[in-house]
Amino acid sequence: MSEKFDVIVIGAGPGGYVAAIRAAQLGLKTACIEKYTDKDDKLALGGTCLNVGCIPSKALLDSSWKYHEAKDAFQVHGISTGDVAIDVETMIGRKDKIVKNLTAGVAGLLKANGVTVYQGHGRLLSGKQVEVAQADGSTQVLDAKNVILASGSRPVEIPSAQVDEQIIVDSTGALAFTAVPKRLGVIGAGVIGLELGSVWARLGAEVTVLEALDKFLPAADEQIAKETMKVLGKQGLKILLGARVTASEVKGDEVTVKFNNADGEQEQVFDKLVVAVGRRPVTTELLAADAGVTLDERGYIFVDDHCATSVPGVYAIGDVVRGLMLAHKASEEGVMVAERIAGQQSQINYDLIPSVIYTHPEAAWVGKTEQTLKAEGVEVNVGVFPFAASGRAMAANDTTGLVKVIACAKTDRVLGVHVLGPSAAELVQQGAIAMEFGTSAEDLAMMVFAHPTMSEALHEAALAVNGRAIHIANRKRR
Ligand SMILES: Cc1cc2nc3c(=O)[nH]c(=O)nc-3n(C[C@H](O)[C@H](O)[C@H](O)COP(=O)(O)OP(=O)(O)OC[C@H]3O[C@@H](n4cnc5c(N)ncnc54)[C@H](O)[C@@H]3O)c2cc1C
Repeated sequence: MSEKFDVIVIGAGPGGYVAAIRAAQLGLKTACIEKYTDKDDKLALGGTCLNVGCIPSKALLDSSWKYHEAKDAFQVHGISTGDVAIDVETMIGRKDKIVKNLTAGVAGLLKANGVTVYQGHGRLLSGKQVEVAQADGSTQVLDAKNVILASGSRPVEIPSAQVDEQIIVDSTGALAFTAVPKRLGVIGAGVIGLELGSVWARLGAEVTVLEALDKFLPAADEQIAKETMKVLGKQGLKILLGARVTASEVKGDEVTVKFNNADGEQEQVFDKLVVAVGRRPVTTELLAADAGVTLDERGYIFVDDHCATSVPGVYAIGDVVRGLMLAHKASEEGVMVAERIAGQQSQINYDLIPSVIYTHPEAAWVGKTEQTLKAEGVEVNVGVFPFAASGRAMAANDTTGLVKVIACAKTDRVLGVHVLGPSAAELVQQGAIAMEFGTSAEDLAMMVFAHPTMSEALHEAALAVNGRAIHIANRKRR
């Protein structure tokens, strides 16, 4: 007889493992199925995020930033370092160790919460049965009252630059280079392309980013996007917009990339090429033909606002469904679904999911952009405060960027917080918390912010919305 569970989760990424833990906390008998194995052939939980995404990329961003500071930024503090060198093997080894600790940590958490982990490929059959296929070809079928599909996403492949894992790589390959490439091409100026491009540019690579769109970071506030492009350009990232890659040819140790831009057909040679043109949902072999779950026209599992699929008792969360492909979005959907299965009325405010690009300075935002609000015909007041006027930023020698607070002109309610600058991710989270409670710019203005902090820039931007900033000249006065 097959084993019966209240909840079976397929996929142990930040969506799946969080859903499984929450379900178990709520007293539901829960199983989680994962197939991913690391380079030692061991089951590795945590999904894209922990293994080849958020965490390893941030580890390399931090290492490369420290290298850059030691090499180029310490002098201003009176610190001399002598020659600074980077040992790529050690840097990658440190990253691998962090990944191992965290994935082992997830295994520990699942165990501590009483979640049964199955290693293998999970497939939803009809009647909420789930088949688990092991690597040795054996299978078993489990029964569930509820199933959560959390199979995530994988990199989009393009015929004009096919990944060969040697010269042409995807984001996973770019997290494991064994040496700094002299000339690095990156196809795609999205979050992943910019972060990975930054890592290797800081370590000395000549980085060219080829972006097919004419617009840089179209989801960001235009002011933030413009400043970000300027800053990254100054750091040596050559970003070519309107550059559509048509072909690539690997010869020996290099790749020639052909692309079209406003000046016609161009060609550039690189030692490594990273393809970072987006990610697509993973539904391969996930659903039996009679499982009943439908996909939308773009191949995502179709769900409602509460992540329910077309089959009662079957849910889908994270990158495999509509919306932002972000770890925190996946996790919160996991919590929501687990709680709804347990009879609670949980929901997510999809309007307030923060986005972050972990370049330096970071770019981050929550809520709506000025251009979106204008297109919607909403009259707004905007407050901007540059980090160049922040005492804390000056003390930290980190004065690039700005905080922008956008409020409704009629109600003063804050509709967007956009930051380029030091600790942008943390500042935007403050904006998200305040906005979740329906803050007005005046509410933020009336709060006491510790001095000297980067957070004061958020305070000043909120004050500037109504012409009351203290440490800059206001565009309008109150
Ligand atoms: C380089 C990079 C950097 C990123 N940085 C950030 C960041 O800084 N912040 C952020 O929020 N997001 C970031 N992301 C995105 C983030 O990793 C994803 O949004 C997140 O991992 C999605 O979580 P998920 O649980 O939906 O899917 P995943 O993390 O993809 O996990 C899905 C899991 O399901 C498993 N699986 C799939 N099918 C089956 C099956 N049939 N049976 C068993 N197991 C299966 C997979 O092996 C995988 O482990 C980054 C991504 C990349 C690639």
